[in-house]
Amino acid sequence: MICPLWERVRVTQYDVAVIGCGAMGASASNSLASKGLKVLTVEQFGLNHKLGSSHGGTRIIRQAYAEDPRYVPLVRRAFELWEELQAKAGKTLIRLTGGLMVGSGDGGLVRDTLTSAMQYALPHRVMSGREVNENFPAFSLEDEETAVFEERAGILFPEECVSTFVGEAKLLGCDFKFEEQVSGWRGRKEGIEIRTEKETYSANKLVFCSGAWTGPLIPGVVPLECERQVPMWFDAKGDPRFGAERMPIFVAEEADARTFYGIPDVGQGVKAAMHHGGKMVAPETVDREVTEDDVRPVREFISRKLSGLNPEPISSTTCLYTNTPDSNFVVDFHPDDERVMIVSACSGHGFKFAPVLGEVVSDLLTVGKTTQDISFLGISRFSRKPLA
Ligand SMILES: Cc1cc2nc3c(=O)[nH]c(=O)nc-3n(C[C@H](O)[C@H](O)[C@H](O)COP(=O)(O)OP(=O)(O)OC[C@H]3O[C@@H](n4cnc5c(N)ncnc54)[C@H](O)[C@@H]3O)c2cc1C
Repeated sequence: MICPLWERVRVTQYDVAVIGCGAMGASASNSLASKGLKVLTVEQFGLNHKLGSSHGGTRIIRQAYAEDPRYVPLVRRAFELWEELQAKAGKTLIRLTGGLMVGSGDGGLVRDTLTSAMQYALPHRVMSGREVNENFPAFSLEDEETAVFEERAGILFPEECVSTFVGEAKLLGCDFKFEEQVSGWRGRKEGIEIRTEKETYSANKLVFCSGAWTGPLIPGVVPLECERQVPMWFDAKGDPRFGAERMPIFVAEEADARTFYGIPDVGQGVKAAMHHGGKMVAPETVDREVTEDDVRPVREFISRKLSGLNPEPISSTTCLYTNTPDSNFVVDFHPDDERVMIVSACSGHGFKFAPVLGEVVSDLLTVGKTTQDISFLGISRFSRKPLA
């Protein structure tokens, strides 16, 4: 008699299975393993692959959080954890450069950055466009533009960060299965079954850190959309104005509400991109070819705001944002199964939070509570889509 697939369950019983090994899965795995749990992490591609959301050499970290002041305590804890991890691993994971949030004085980005800075008494300085150009000669802002500068902002090195989480988690006994896709799961009384093309695993708890691929794995639970993004690099030719010693990371909101961001040259050139404004896509079929339509707005932005830089990109990549309707993350239990957590922390700004969200997940799955306020990241804020 042929044994049905669901009956061929592997005897290894894990405390927690994590699906996905981008920033969130790697961090959650490390934090869970550090609490003594037996953890399995399944990733459909290789370590630091270039098809999801966690590649591309650099990420911005900043504190005076324009998106919502409730992220400030989370990012403060994330800063502490990044610095701890960096010290433990003896590798450079984070580099402070300071950060500029640029816009019109009464516009959303500047106003909302100031709201967070003032609510949490974060050191900052408001500067005119002219002052920015004088202090940071990479920039060519208009006089009437305004910027909020904060010192505690800078660059994370995402591939190093993910590799470090994975390395630490392996030392703690976490089992990683790369190049293995999870094709299904189901909650049973005795545990959760996780099916891949190679194996069926069993765990007491399950965490979805599956980024842009999450929707079909939990149909109808969270309204997620996957957006194509194209960061690109510009040749600074070793000009010190554009290096991390002199140039802060920045986010700039234009008069037409488009937002661009940039990161100084740490070896590959100055990185810049438009934030959002990309096509909604499926992760399996996203167009990875970069076109003139992708380049044009960034080239024009560079010509205006970083006019000393050659505005023709020397390289580019495609990357995916996984967006919720309100651009806030999802960190919550599955509404139908309290043993299952969903961590969808992207909407284009999640990387910096990876260590604190890993800690939140491991606290919730071990002691059932967290000291962080994540009430605004719950699933109940969305109305549930009926299943077809
Ligand atoms: C261009 C770009 C720039 C960004 N800039 C910043 C920034 O400056 N600062 C910042 O804080 N954030 C930034 N972000 C956001 C940040 O990078 C993301 O929030 C973060 O990387 C999301 O990590 P993740 O683990 O949720 O997703 P991913 O890194 O995509 O990881 C999900 C993983 O799950 C795996 N997976 C999915 N389904 C399955 C399955 N069925 N079986 C097995 N494995 C599966 C995938 O292969 C993938 O590796 C940026 C994002 C992009 C795209």
